[in-house]
Amino acid sequence: MAAERVLIIGGGVTGLATAYFLSRYAIPCTIIEKTHRTGGLIKTDVIEGCHLEAGPDSYIATKPAVTDLAGELPGLKEQIIGSNDAARRIFVVRNGELQPMPQGMIMMVPGEWEPLQQSQLISEDAKRAIHQETKRKPLERQKDVSVGQFVEEHFGAEVLEYLTEPLLCGVYGGDSENLSAGSVLPRFLGYERKYGSLVKGVQQELRDRPKGSLFLSFRYGMQTLTNSLASALAGRVNIVRGEATGVARQGDVWQVHVGGETLSAHNVALCCPAHVNARLLETNAAPVAEELAAIPYSSAVLVMQVYDRATLGHPLDGFGFLVPRGERKTIAAATWVDTKWPMRTPPNLAAIRTFIVGRQAMELANVSEADILSLVRSDLRTFMGITTPPLFHTFNRWPNSMPQYVVGHSQRVKNIFEHLENYPGLFLAGNAYDGVGIPDCVRQADQIAQQICARSI
Ligand SMILES: Cc1cc2nc3c(=O)[nH]c(=O)nc-3n(C[C@H](O)[C@H](O)[C@H](O)COP(=O)(O)OP(=O)(O)OC[C@H]3O[C@@H](n4cnc5c(N)ncnc54)[C@H](O)[C@@H]3O)c2cc1C
Repeated sequence: MAAERVLIIGGGVTGLATAYFLSRYAIPCTIIEKTHRTGGLIKTDVIEGCHLEAGPDSYIATKPAVTDLAGELPGLKEQIIGSNDAARRIFVVRNGELQPMPQGMIMMVPGEWEPLQQSQLISEDAKRAIHQETKRKPLERQKDVSVGQFVEEHFGAEVLEYLTEPLLCGVYGGDSENLSAGSVLPRFLGYERKYGSLVKGVQQELRDRPKGSLFLSFRYGMQTLTNSLASALAGRVNIVRGEATGVARQGDVWQVHVGGETLSAHNVALCCPAHVNARLLETNAAPVAEELAAIPYSSAVLVMQVYDRATLGHPLDGFGFLVPRGERKTIAAATWVDTKWPMRTPPNLAAIRTFIVGRQAMELANVSEADILSLVRSDLRTFMGITTPPLFHTFNRWPNSMPQYVVGHSQRVKNIFEHLENYPGLFLAGNAYDGVGIPDCVRQADQIAQQICARSI
């Protein structure tokens, strides 16, 4: 069989977007996807008139790749919505109680003094440490440090425990003592270089920031994005259902083994998690595979429960809450879906999305859905006083789904892409390298499509 121009392994948003960007240059491709559906981690379940996110629920507005892509897909830009920021309030559990996080924070850094002063979430000592932080001098770091060390140096242990850790846990599912400040908090390192103080940097950022929601989504859920991509590709891109098990070189052509078959192409875009790409490349691109395999991953479990709003017994007066490590039993965070995204359930219903990550998700890998549900319900009873059972729920496990940008990550990524230059025709994109969010995946998909186009084969 003649070699194809491009094979894409993985039909998540990265693989779909790569195929879409290639179609701009009229470059044909085939996607290999091991499951019966495309979209990967992006999945919106539609049940009883509710649109319930099984994976991501939004994307960050300040990175334009998704919004730009939506502008190219028919009718999609009109579907973009911002979170309901008029009701934005995030609580953090402290001594078993929900305490509101001060308004005007960017990540763990307060940009306004008044709400910080009023806050019951952190002690007077921690507030004094934040004031003191504004006296720091600009600093150019010579080596990567952990997020834990970086934040503790600026604000002390309490801010790390009650603000930074819980916020980062939802995004990375990892521990601050392992995560890399350089890769996870590059913007804050920039403030340290420029102002010395992160507070001063955030105050400036708040002055400069355009108005509008920080987080965007699609009216009926994130899967609208991947469905629109799939529709745009229908009839133009072939999708092979099967698990790729190896990538080998044959002259100037790459061969991909899928089930009992071998497909060949001049270019292969690997759009799977790094640990999967590592296995695919271990025999024929070992130096790349070794570095990919060294990127650790964390797991997540998402439980969405839908209640009769009239009997819930909670005002849902915010976007939800975060549970710091020291207060955690099972869940790390809960989103009050209808407050954040009011159109996702009919008015008589209320959805609560709970997130289990990190150590807890790993430990529960072999625990039954029923047992996990009762742990989640116990947490909601403790933190929100909910005793009524839900009308129905969805349950999704995402094992080894969250790449951990640990100390030294940027050097590892540099090594990966240097080694990759020795394997012309192989391309990598996804959330394991340079940004964990959906806009990062779409941006990288665009980049590799351009690189493939530039190859003159
Ligand atoms: C619980 C959770 C919540 C998140 N929330 C957010 C959020 O709110 N906002 C945000 O921006 N980001 C969020 N993220 C991150 C975001 O979901 C990912 O960055 C993005 O979806 C990754 O897309 P991808 O296509 O690179 O990978 P994936 O979605 O993992 O897709 C990879 C695809 O490859 C397929 N595949 C795997 N192995 C093979 C094989 N051997 N052969 C063929 N196919 C294979 C898989 O079946 C899958 O379809 C979240 C992640 C998780 C886990």
